[in-house]
Amino acid sequence: MIRLERVTKRFGDVTAVDEASLGVARGEVLALLGPSGCGKTTLLRLVAGFEQPDAGAIEIAGELVSGRDTWVPPERRRVGMVFQDYALFPHLTVRENVGFGLARRERRARVAELLAIVGLEELGSRYPHELSGGQQQRVALARALAPSPELVLLDEPWSNVDSSMRETLRAEVADIIRPLGVTVVLVTHDREEAFSLADRIALMRDGAIVQEGTSEELYFAPASRWAAEFVGAANVLTGPVEHGLVRTPIGAFPVDRDGDRAEVEVLVRPELLELEPDPSGAGEVVAREFRGHDVFYRVRLGGVEVVSQRPSNEVVPLGSRVRVKLHNGRTAVLR
Ligand code: ATP
Repeated sequence: MIRLERVTKRFGDVTAVDEASLGVARGEVLALLGPSGCGKTTLLRLVAGFEQPDAGAIEIAGELVSGRDTWVPPERRRVGMVFQDYALFPHLTVRENVGFGLARRERRARVAELLAIVGLEELGSRYPHELSGGQQQRVALARALAPSPELVLLDEPWSNVDSSMRETLRAEVADIIRPLGVTVVLVTHDREEAFSLADRIALMRDGAIVQEGTSEELYFAPASRWAAEFVGAANVLTGPVEHGLVRTPIGAFPVDRDGDRAEVEVLVRPELLELEPDPSGAGEVVAREFRGHDVFYRVRLGGVEVVSQRPSNEVVPLGSRVRVKLHNGRTAVLR
């Protein structure tokens, strides 16, 4: 549905998007994930046609829309977009907002259909300021979907709502979008949002796409230490590899790396570390952070500190001695 070939966009001295190549399959939900300022919004705007690339090519549904001698304007790209601030017309009703870009003859029926899809049949005559944030978002989504685009771009659609509301809205939007089978690109800096919604994630840093994969691939097999730490809490342990075993302060365990090495960096997610209270244990719990459904423990052992994430029904007091055990699970060699 989308193909980007080495797309570059500069603003003065800033290279906002740096030779980004990416493919998005038809019907796929792809999240563009990365820290603030890494170029996610610019990449989305390049796809929509609100920015022109300095180099590279963009294809949508097999048609070249941006290239060396080609430029298809945004209104001819058949792309729906939901902006961070929803960008609803304040002086138009919900019905008029949704019907804005539609031809007159189809407008009534299509608007009714969309209001039903997003569950706002009753609110068609209201103005945007008479709606909650979540309702405004549904109007914005209905407006983006109105011309039946095959591709919908969502730019941080939940950045203005509080975290408890965000989960509800996320689920709502997924329920609306999934059955329609449209291709979606979602920009977010929130890894949980990307994990829970996307079929695939493209991770961006400094304008470049540094990794593409499923949520599990990004979480358990990140391409670098930076990626490992960006997508979740991480223990990065170092040690030598001999006969397929890495020796670390938490003990030796198998790694997927051929040949002996003097030193590797290996990623162990905190939930893989179990704590067993033991007065003669090598570890000491030096900090305890209660998070609700689980607790993060910082444990000092063998000259390093590791983080263990345990369910909150398992209580290990601060200052206690423990043995740290690696639970069965995926570890990854980072370097
Ligand atoms: P955020 O999550 O904070 O919205 P982002 O990943 O979407 O960030 P972009 O908005 O794409 O990042 O910005 C990427 C870089 O390009 C930033 O350094 C930004 O300051 C710069 N930039 C973006 N748009 C413009 C512009 N119109 N003029 C000049 N610089 C720009």
